[in-house]
Parts: sequence; C-alpha cells; structure tokens
Amino acid sequence: MVGSGYAGIQALRFLEARLPSGAADLTLLSPTDHLLYTSLLPEVCAGVVEPRHLAVAIRGVLKRTVLRLGHAVSVNLADRTVTCADHIGAEPARLGWDRLVLAPGAITRTFDIPGLAEHAVGLKNLAEAAYLRDHVIRQMEDADACDDPAQRRARCTFVVVGAGYTGTELAAQMSRFTRREARHFPRLDPDEIRWILLDLKPRVLPELAEALGTKAAGVLAERQVDVRLGLSLAEVTGDSVTLTDGTTVPTHTVVWCAGITPSPLMATLGRPTTKGRLDVDDMLRVPGADGVFALGDAATVPDVTKDGEPAGQTAQNALRQGIAAGRNVAASLGYGQARQYRHRDLGFVVDLGGTDAVANPLGVTLSGLPAAAVTRAYHLYSIGSFTNQIRVASDWALSALSPTQIVQLGFLRPRDSSIVAAEKTDIYS
Ligand SMILES: Cc1cc2nc3c(=O)[nH]c(=O)nc-3n(C[C@H](O)[C@H](O)[C@H](O)COP(=O)(O)OP(=O)(O)OC[C@H]3O[C@@H](n4cnc5c(N)ncnc54)[C@H](O)[C@@H]3O)c2cc1C
Repeated sequence: MVGSGYAGIQALRFLEARLPSGAADLTLLSPTDHLLYTSLLPEVCAGVVEPRHLAVAIRGVLKRTVLRLGHAVSVNLADRTVTCADHIGAEPARLGWDRLVLAPGAITRTFDIPGLAEHAVGLKNLAEAAYLRDHVIRQMEDADACDDPAQRRARCTFVVVGAGYTGTELAAQMSRFTRREARHFPRLDPDEIRWILLDLKPRVLPELAEALGTKAAGVLAERQVDVRLGLSLAEVTGDSVTLTDGTTVPTHTVVWCAGITPSPLMATLGRPTTKGRLDVDDMLRVPGADGVFALGDAATVPDVTKDGEPAGQTAQNALRQGIAAGRNVAASLGYGQARQYRHRDLGFVVDLGGTDAVANPLGVTLSGLPAAAVTRAYHLYSIGSFTNQIRVASDWALSALSPTQIVQLGFLRPRDSSIVAAEKTDIYS
C-alpha cells in the first residue's frame, strides 16, 4: 500500500479484518506515521484544534501492517517494484509486491504565476497549518509595533486564493479569529484587519450546491471578508500581490487554496491518466497492470451512478473507495467477492467557525447552529479513532469556554513553508 490517507488506511483496515493471519504480508509505505484528518486544518490555523489531534496514529488503527516510512518515487510495472526514497539508508530502496495499491493522494496545484511558489503557502498538511497560524499572529504583532500606516495595512491584509471549501472555511474562521483577538493588541483596531478571498469562478463554494454557496457568502459578508470573484493572482512578491484586474494589494500573506493535482507518482507508471489521475476501472484496477489498484484523489475512479464520470476528490469518496479496494484486493487473493465501486453522496459539510456552518446532509440544506451541530458530529464520526475523537471534542469544548492562546510556536522556518518544500515535488523520477 502506498499512502496513509483516508483511502489507504481504510483499505488496510479492511484487509486486516478480511484476510486470515498468514494469508498475506501487508506493508504500508508512507512519509508519515499517521493519517491526517485534513478537513479540520482550517481549525488548526484558527487555534481551535491542536495540530496533533488531527493526526490518527497508524499504530493505533493497524495491527499487523508493517510501516515503512518514506516516499514512493517511482513504480516499475515490468519488474513489479516500487522505489522508495528518504527511508532508513542513503540509497533509494526497491520494494517488490504481488498486489500494489496506490493511494498517494494529491498535492497543491500551482500555476505559472510569478512569485507564487516562493511566497505563497498551501494548506495540505499540519506543518503548513501550524506555520500559517504563527505567521498570521506574527503579522498582527508587527502591525501593532509599527507606526507607518502603509506598513500596518500590509501586515493586516491577508489574501486567500480559492473560494472552494478549504479557502472559504479558512477565510471565515481566520477573519473571526483575527478580528476577535485584535482587542488583545494595544494599538490594533479590528477594523484594520482585512481578509480578501479570491476566486476565478463567479461564486463562493463553486463545487457545492448553490444554496450552500449563498449561505456561506452571507457568513463571509458578516465576518467582513472582502470576497472578489472572477479574479485570481497575476503576480506575488514578498510584500504585495497583483490581481488579474491589475490591482496591487500590499500584503505579506498569501494562502493558495486554488486546487490540487494528483501525486506525481502516478505519472511514473506510464499508464493512461486523466488530468494526472491514474485511470482505473470500476473495480479500482489499473487496466493492463496485473495486480495494481489505485484510488482516492490520485485515481480517476468512474462513478457508475453518474454514467462513469470521475468520482469527486473528496474524503467521502476516498474512504468508501478504501473499503472497495480492500474488498477487491482480498478477492484477488481468493477471499470474498470483488464488487464495483458505487458511491452514494451523503452531502457535504463546511465549518465556518463558531456556530456558523453550512451543510446538506442527504440533500437537506442547513445553515447556522443546526449545520454546525451536523458538521461537528460528522467530523467526529469520520475521524474514526476514539483517541482523536475525544481530543478534538475537548478542543471544541475548551475553545468555547476559555480564551484563545495567542502564541507562536516557531517550529517551522519560513523557507520550509513554501509549497515546493511542503510537497517535495522534486523527488519523483
Ligand atoms: C485543507 C483541506 C480540507 C479538506 N476538507 C474536506 C472536507 O471537508 N470534505 C471532504 O470530503 N474532503 C475534504 N478535503 C479533501 C480530502 O482531504 C481528500 O479528498 C482526501 O484526503 C483524499 O484521500 P486520499 O487517501 O486519496 O489522499 P490523502 O488523504 O491526501 O492521503 C494521501 C497519503 O499519501 C501519502 N503520500 C503522498 N505521497 C506519497 C508518496 N510518494 N509515497 C507514499 N505516500 C505518499 C500522504 O502522506 C498521505 O498520507 C480537504 C482537503 C484539504 C487539503
């Protein structure tokens, strides 16, 4: 198994349960020793949830899988090996397999926008989320200590690109956090704080039902987020951004949430891909590659309930595909029956912070407190580990009952926070 995200861990859980001991040796190749519950990363930035509480320990959920820490950097179908980098030992190792399941997910997608890769941060992992929190607090400290009005304005301006669920949640939660906490800074006025949310599409939450987008746009307006649609970035420098309409906005903070692209690993197989996602059939098998399965954000899985159009890149799809892949791999070893992957959409939840959320469980559009309750219940259920459930629930209770801690942890240097450093895009061969 390559990848310890929603898809990979779910598949291994299924395999551990379905296969009798001794039926197969299970190995997981992953750069981390945990599954990251990404959906709550904006809450890490807002200081509501502690970073570690979103990391579900592999040791806690898998009992007989051998974990090898490292990145798969290429797959050789002819000799049935995966090359693995940054594991123990200086030279890349080659691991053999009888069945290979590829679930390395996606990485932040950047475009050829000058300065973007150097100056923007992404929001795909814990380090980026923890760094972003530190960075925003640092901007507030610097603005508070500064007398130059132009400098203060630049420090207090935060630009988020992408009004999908990640960017919308982040802008809503961070605007709430920074404007509320500004009162602790003796010389900062909450009205100096400005969050700008950009998207090329004509509405907020373009990938979700329109009713959810309209409700979320209402919450953003209440939180005084400056939403600018039909726009993106033309250039980023260390102290400003230029938008595609020619406007220049002085800022030291650009968060890039404008999309993802499949792991570069998928291209190394030399098999057909669609927009970088490895093509698979409805049993999650890679056609023409015996014993190879792929799923999650990195694979084009046909949704048979929608005439075979590619299934969405969502946690819900990844989790269910994990079960389907586990079942089909087990069947290929002679245990149980293989089945095609069928998706039934249960709806989507978007946590905007406090008691604000939008959700459409089973097609029913909710907002405000009922949506917030559904959203939190859904997250607690989905995180799938009691240790994490209890910690996240405690974080929510603590943040409702006690003041936020405005502290920078300083664990990450700015140069380690760039998108290229965070995604290690340069290791694939
Ligand atoms: C901030 C954020 C918020 C989100 N919120 C939601 C939400 O609210 N609802 C929703 O449905 N979806 C949400 N998503 C999307 C959801 O997280 C993904 O669709 C889902 O994680 C895909 O699962 P996956 O297992 O395919 O990939 P991932 O969960 O990304 O897991 C991939 C795994 O592979 C590992 N890996 C990467 N490269 C390699 C390699 N070369 N070799 C070995 N291992 C590798 C990674 O470390 C990771 O463990 C969100 C995503 C983000 C970033």
